[in-house]
Amino acid sequence: MRLEVERRTLRLAGALHSSFGPVRERQLLTVALTDSDGVTGYGEAAPLEAYDGVGIASVERALGRYRAVLAELEGTDGAALLDACRDVEDLPAAIAAVDLALWDRAGRRAGKPVAELLTDRPAAEVPVNATLSALDRAGVAEEAAEAVRKGFACLKVKVGVGDDAGRIAAARAAAGPEVALRLDANGAWSVSEAVRAIESLSPAGLELVEEPTHGLKAVREVRERVAVRVSIDETAAEPGALGAGVADAVCLKISRCGGLSGLLAAAALVRASGAEVYLASTLDGPLGIAAAVHAAAALASRGPVAPCGLATLALFEDFDDPLPVREGRIALPAAPGLGVDFP
Ligand SMILES: [Mg+2]
Repeated sequence: MRLEVERRTLRLAGALHSSFGPVRERQLLTVALTDSDGVTGYGEAAPLEAYDGVGIASVERALGRYRAVLAELEGTDGAALLDACRDVEDLPAAIAAVDLALWDRAGRRAGKPVAELLTDRPAAEVPVNATLSALDRAGVAEEAAEAVRKGFACLKVKVGVGDDAGRIAAARAAAGPEVALRLDANGAWSVSEAVRAIESLSPAGLELVEEPTHGLKAVREVRERVAVRVSIDETAAEPGALGAGVADAVCLKISRCGGLSGLLAAAALVRASGAEVYLASTLDGPLGIAAAVHAAAALASRGPVAPCGLATLALFEDFDDPLPVREGRIALPAAPGLGVDFP
């Protein structure tokens, strides 16, 4: 099989602020995987080093090693091809790019959307949250009102970045009482800081607090001490985290799980532990977001999926969003494969 890799850059219209720092542009690696049948599948890696320490150079290097391995192989046994790649280097973000291309290829060959290869009755659409990125109260209020006008039922606010209380109060006042408010601290707090912050912020009415602190033990302690629902995101990468049952929900990402196959297996573990799942990305490009939409649509046929952090393509500048959000939902693409082309 022939693997081609291309580096692309997408600029955000405005900087996005988290407790790990601002993000202004995204460098992506788009991969094209072609077998002797001539059918090409496309995948993507979108590593975000500031977030989880995985840099684009290391993903590019791993994909170069996979290229050599895949050149020697043929066939449609995706699991065996991924195992061969993992044997030379097990880097989930790079494995995910190949996994996505394999699923895209399989869908194109079968003439079906990927979600229909994953389950018999995928959901037709996936609920998504808006992310409020302004660092000041007036800006957050404006963004919240705009998101509610557009039909979003869940708004996410990054916390641990300054004036959390003021911005959350502003978001609630502008959004009205019905809309779900989700916080994401990206692990900025210690256990005692998290407990204090959540207690003081919870009168605003919170859907859940994501990654209040890092680490299974610490998250479990926070959850035992607050009345608000708690989820893990970064901590989901810890060994044994998926089935640990320390949180009410677990945020899963295509890149961290090594692609669609890994994500579905991870979701099964989470659900068996009694926790809920939802998906997000690290500001992926269109192929990564599309893959997450297919996975979420498949998961929704077997249980609840909380609003997903996938409404981020509209944040890119000079970019024609192939997965537009309507009334707080992204429709499952109908075309074969992942159903989007990188424009
Ligand atoms: Mg997060």
